[in-house]
Amino acid sequence: MQPGNDVEIGDHVQMRKGHPCGSDEWTVIRTGADVKIKCHGCGRIVMLDRFEFLKRRKKVIRRLDQDELLLLRAKE
Ligand SMILES: [Zn+2]
Repeated sequence: MQPGNDVEIGDHVQMRKGHPCGSDEWTVIRTGADVKIKCHGCGRIVMLDRFEFLKRRKKVIRRLDQDELLLLRAKE
């Protein structure tokens, strides 16, 4: 699966450019007009506007399935 223009909370993504800490993998923790992502390497949170995020995203490594999404939302 390679989504083009969509982004879901919980997405495990790879970005085109690595973070200075050495990791290029992130988890999406908020979606909307702005997208918040958390670095897997150092835990830093970065906010990008949706357009910028989609431009910099290389691929979606894994997307949560429906059950996992429900669990995640129940915790919020
Ligand atoms: Zn990092």
